[in-house]
This record gives sequence, structure tokens and C-alpha cells, in this order.
Amino acid sequence: MKEDCLFCKIISGKIPSYKVYEDDAVFAFLDIYPASEGHTLVAPKKHFTKFTDMNAENVASLFEVARKITAAVENASLAEGANIGINDGEIAGQEVPHVHVHVIPRRKGDGGRGIKSIVWTEPDTTNLEAVAKKIRRAL
Ligand code: AMP
Ligand code: ZN
Repeated sequence: MKEDCLFCKIISGKIPSYKVYEDDAVFAFLDIYPASEGHTLVAPKKHFTKFTDMNAENVASLFEVARKITAAVENASLAEGANIGINDGEIAGQEVPHVHVHVIPRRKGDGGRGIKSIVWTEPDTTNLEAVAKKIRRAL
């Protein structure tokens, strides 16, 4: 628990939330400013600022709950599909520095677009092999 973290306070119950799921490692609650009805945030109970701070076990439990929530919003007829993602880092739009997965329910005719509508910088595609190599080397 990080004393000055909004989501740590929500997870510990110090700040109220619309909880939808909780287990030993993960806490899921409604986004208070939802992008669509049923927009849910899935967060590890342990404080991690960035996705890359987490280990494989942490990530597995987080994404298993994200999968469960996605299935639940679809089963509850709140969605026909969903966008599932993390804003990782301030540059990527992260406002709350405690890792969380957004599950954003999508419906026919909602006017939204796909994940590439977040950013479109038209990078050079003439040497994708060099880009792939750079990433492979850094793994
Ligand atoms: P991000 O920009 O990925 O860090 O997302 C933070 C999300 O937290 C935003 O979508 C906010 O609407 C949401 N949020 C902020 N305060 C609260 C709160 N008290 N309870 C639930 N969601 C919140
Ligand atoms: Zn926290």
C-alpha cells in the first residue's frame, strides 16, 4: 500500500468504489468517469506504478481478471465486444500511477474506433526488420 496512491486507497476501502470483483491479488471497480457503460478498471492489489514493474505471476492474475470482467460485461448484455488496455506511463495518458487495465465495453453504433485510434504517427514502414531487430535485442 502506497499512502498517497488513489487506487491503493480504493483497494483498501479508505475511498469508496463500485467494486465488481476482488480476490487475493486483484481488485476490479467501475471507472467513475466511464467511456461507456460498464467501463471497469482492473488493478493489482499490490502497488506497481508501471506495467513493466510487475512479474509474470502478477501479470497472469491481472489479465485473468480482465478476461473474466470482459466475459461478464458481455454475459450481462452490457457489451458485444470490448477494448482492453493499459495506459502505461504519463506519455501514454496514465493519470493514476497504479497499474490498471481498462475494460471498455463496446456496442454496435457507439461511434468508437479501434486501438489504433489512440495514436497514429505514420512511422516509416520501409525497414520493419530493423525495428524488429532493435526490439529483439532489447528483450
Ligand atoms: P488512466 O488515465 O489510465 O490512469 O486512468 C485512470 C482512470 O481512473 C480514469 O479513467 C478515471 O476516470 C478513473 N478514476 C479517477 N478517479 C477515480 C475514482 N475515484 N474511482 C474510480 N475511477 C476513477
Ligand atoms: Zn497504489
